Amino acid sequence: MTVLTVLPYPNPFLRRKAAPVESFDQGLKKIILDMEETMADRDGIGMAATQVGLDMRLLLLAPVAFDRDCAADAPNIVVINPEIVWQSEERNSSEEGCLSFPSVYIMVERPDAVRIRAQDATGAFFEIEGEQLGARAILHEIDHLNGVVMVDLVSHLQRSRALKKHQRNQKELVRAHQKKKRRE
Ligand code: ZN
Repeated sequence: MTVLTVLPYPNPFLRRKAAPVESFDQGLKKIILDMEETMADRDGIGMAATQVGLDMRLLLLAPVAFDRDCAADAPNIVVINPEIVWQSEERNSSEEGCLSFPSVYIMVERPDAVRIRAQDATGAFFEIEGEQLGARAILHEIDHLNGVVMVDLVSHLQRSRALKKHQRNQKELVRAHQKKKRRE
């Protein structure tokens, strides 16, 4: 298994509307394993294929987003070609983060609950419902497959604050990396 590079915003790939997955083969299983390794490495509760530069309607959700008390080895939920079947009219605002904006958290308003229909790694259809954090994770990751990121969903002021913080963080990361390189 390989830890993939998570593309930080504003990589143009994050603006892509991903293509449907058509073959449910060994190649797909390998991609899913690499994505799982990557999401665990970054401590994510969800990740979309577009975030690692793959043009596929594929995302992963950590079981803890649906059940806080789930077993440590509970499998990730593999969601392929998702369609939103239903979402609640009731909405709530809560803090949200994104692996493409490390260490940036913003308040985002989303529906309380959502139900989707999707395919699993074998191509079989299933439905899953998420509430609160589960709904938030599902909708955040589906947004990624449509080229939408969390800062698109907030006010102009919130957006510019979040982007400033993100730019600062990214610069610091580059500086830390260069320092490390010089020491090596
Ligand atoms: Zn994200």
